[in-house]
Amino acid sequence: MNFSYWERETLVGNVDIVVVGSGLVGLFTALFLKQKNPAIRVVVAERGPFPHGASSRNAGFACFGSVSELLDDFRSRPRKEVLQLVERRYAGLQKLRATLGDAKIGFESCGGTELFEATESDMKEACMEELPQLNNDLQDMLGIRPFREDQAFAKFSGGRFTHAIHNNAEGAVHTGKMVRALLDQCRDAGIELWNGIEIEAIEHLPNGASLKTSMGNIQCQQVAVCTNGFARSLLPHLNVTPARNQVIVTSSIPHMPLHGTYHVKEGYIYFRNVGDRLLLGGFRHLYRKEEETTDMGLLPEVQQTLEDYARNQLLPGVPFEIDYRWAGIMGVGPTKSYICEAVHSHVFCGVRMGGMGVALSPIIAEELSELMMQHRNS
Ligand SMILES: Cc1cc2nc3c(=O)[nH]c(=O)nc-3n(C[C@H](O)[C@H](O)[C@H](O)COP(=O)(O)OP(=O)(O)OC[C@H]3O[C@@H](n4cnc5c(N)ncnc54)[C@H](O)[C@@H]3O)c2cc1C
Repeated sequence: MNFSYWERETLVGNVDIVVVGSGLVGLFTALFLKQKNPAIRVVVAERGPFPHGASSRNAGFACFGSVSELLDDFRSRPRKEVLQLVERRYAGLQKLRATLGDAKIGFESCGGTELFEATESDMKEACMEELPQLNNDLQDMLGIRPFREDQAFAKFSGGRFTHAIHNNAEGAVHTGKMVRALLDQCRDAGIELWNGIEIEAIEHLPNGASLKTSMGNIQCQQVAVCTNGFARSLLPHLNVTPARNQVIVTSSIPHMPLHGTYHVKEGYIYFRNVGDRLLLGGFRHLYRKEEETTDMGLLPEVQQTLEDYARNQLLPGVPFEIDYRWAGIMGVGPTKSYICEAVHSHVFCGVRMGGMGVALSPIIAEELSELMMQHRNS
């Protein structure tokens, strides 16, 4: 298929910047580019009917780091680097809320709770030992002391969890409302959202780039690749591995005992209430090879593990159905750090958001849009 003369003349021609991917990173990048320079024409090209990777399929934890996860990160990366990433995630949460508004994203200031099972006493001890220093560090950096041991958590699960650490600076968002609010804000800002168009390849031109699509080529001055877990299909050299994550949501549960966001096993298992339903996701750590895929299908073993955990561990004896099951694709790498760089004079990327992309996305988008503007003006 080719673009018609009319399409070329009026719709596809004279595009300044194409952002590939309309997840949180792509949409925020487009928004900040337009805010920095209202005169430029910004198009977001998305292959799905709406964002269809991780941003509209995540669990809605507005989180910036659990103690066990940070401890694990300290073992492989310099403490300063790990804490800087926490700082960015925290700043990202504030920016997300300030840009879109708490009501529009359904923000709930419920905190986040890390739970420990009886068999994890060593891990729990290590976390408790780390807690004062971590609070001191965050006090210096962010002015908050978010972590405290929590005694008032074990209203569910029949005593499976023996200890908890609560982070009072985290919360929950309504993922659908958040994406909707961002799409609306992009439209209001005059950004063009093109859906159902897959970018198949990027060719470098002396003054820009040519994007190959199934409908014909599109030329532009700059490209931002914001396709996260799918990044290697356009930029094969990037060290980004797709990581599928699966989720279930139950039917309504009368007298739902669980409120807030919870995570177990360094965040590999996570659950929260969505109204009076339970949302549970994760277990990727048990099926690493199978989950290293961009396929959005469901793996029956993971689904069964999720269902068993909900029925037998979290809410034993409570009747419910599984109303929703889905998967989304994250982008991960050897470290938790993201990639935000110029891969060519006209081609840029902001990818590898890991498991806390809700918080990180506005910060990466700010960095990416700034980088692109600097190149444009140089
Ligand atoms: C099940 C699950 C639960 C999660 N829970 C949380 C959570 O609770 N809290 C949290 O902070 N993070 C969570 N995350 C991670 C978070 O959702 C991601 O880090 C974040 O959404 C990444 O945003 P993104 O814009 O980089 O990528 P995506 O949202 O994946 O956006 C990329 C977009 O690019 C499009 N695309 C791909 N290739 C092309 C192409 N060639 N041409 C055109 N379009 C293309 C895709 O369709 C997609 O819409 C979770 C992720 C998953 C999967």
